[in-house]
Amino acid sequence: MTTNQDLFTAAQNLMPGGVNSPVRAFGSVGGVPVSMVAGNGPYLTDAEGKEYVDLVGSWGPALLGHSHPAVLEAVRAAVDKGLGFGTSHPAEAQLAQLVRSRVPGAEMIRMVSTGTEATMTAIRLARGATGKNLAVKFAGCYHGHSDGLLAAAGSGVATLGLPGSAGVTQAQASETIVIEYNDRSALQTVFAEHGEDIAAVITEATPANMGVVPPEAGFNQLIRSLTEAHGALMIFDEVMTGFRITEAGYWGASGREEGWEPDLFTFGKVIGGGLPTAAVAGRREIMEQLAPTGPVYHAGTLSGNPVAMAAGVATLQHATAEVYQHIDAKAQVVTDALAAALSDAGVDHTIQKVGNLFSVAFGTSQSGVHNYSQAQAQETFRYGPFFHTMLEAGVYLPPSVFEAWFLSAAHDDAAVERILSALPAAARAAAE
Ligand code: PLP
Repeated sequence: MTTNQDLFTAAQNLMPGGVNSPVRAFGSVGGVPVSMVAGNGPYLTDAEGKEYVDLVGSWGPALLGHSHPAVLEAVRAAVDKGLGFGTSHPAEAQLAQLVRSRVPGAEMIRMVSTGTEATMTAIRLARGATGKNLAVKFAGCYHGHSDGLLAAAGSGVATLGLPGSAGVTQAQASETIVIEYNDRSALQTVFAEHGEDIAAVITEATPANMGVVPPEAGFNQLIRSLTEAHGALMIFDEVMTGFRITEAGYWGASGREEGWEPDLFTFGKVIGGGLPTAAVAGRREIMEQLAPTGPVYHAGTLSGNPVAMAAGVATLQHATAEVYQHIDAKAQVVTDALAAALSDAGVDHTIQKVGNLFSVAFGTSQSGVHNYSQAQAQETFRYGPFFHTMLEAGVYLPPSVFEAWFLSAAHDDAAVERILSALPAAARAAAE
């Protein structure tokens, strides 16, 4: 039998770190990365034939669970007609219409292939539309790996303990102002000092790349009012939260906060249904600044690929209110049990949670985690033993304490029971 170790050893010789995305290398939890070969509902199966309850969900896209029959059927039907044409085709408008019908403020949509491309394009669009240069981002928020957005970028970067990235020039870094999340006065100061030059503030609707960090009441609205007052755009990065959590502000159907809208959104993950699709969306007069109607260039060989559009359409069509109620309810069950197991084992912690998106932070009960400094100050060493005890018991968690846990519509009672029964031993391991 080919083992996970065999596969990883071979991969390390072929790919930097043996992976195509750093967190997959298990750097912060140690051990051998698990090579998955199949996903079905809430389960993943590795190369050694071991089955896991999956709490990574492909890092978000698997809202309906793995290999949902309707999504697979839609993909197969699309594949039968061809893998891509490099032309317009009907499914692009179908997905755009689904997004628009559920997100007030998403008047026009441009499909791209990754979340990174979506935020990069949104920033360029904001600069083009406002004629200003500076972007403001929050420490610990991850918006993909484009040069200007890598400063203090949370999750993967935090896992590796890097301040940012080599290869980003001083000039690029200097056009991004980074401030602490949930810090109202820092935001006000930045606008007081640089308001004339700020093209955009980009924020995760609910940060989930430094662990989950809820926006304090009124924080998103403060971003909205300051950007509006200074002629800057507000970019709401919903790559992670979009069509996943109702509490972020926007999801579909009727889940939006009343009274304000950002200028631009970015979506990804769920809207691609597991295939590479993401999007920039927003107000018509801003979106029309994109080529070919406007001067801001964006293009993509695979943008709006028909197979990816089919997966996205089928996923959003099945993302009903019942799906969200189910995932929200299961998230409550899992977080209640997680908190109880950790408390029983005497492990100081906070459960960081917004709707169905959650993470755990260790040694943080005194202050809570409201920003990146607090997230980084936690007892990260407790997560490795916790993670590996869960893995051994057949539960696949994100291999970093800075990542959110993802449930899906397919996580039924049996899958949740497996998670719950694994928690006490993992909590005891975290206590040591
Ligand atoms: N924005 C947010 C909020 C994300 O969580 C991510 C990825 O996790 C991205 C952007 C980048 O998306 P991608 O990995 O598809 O480039």
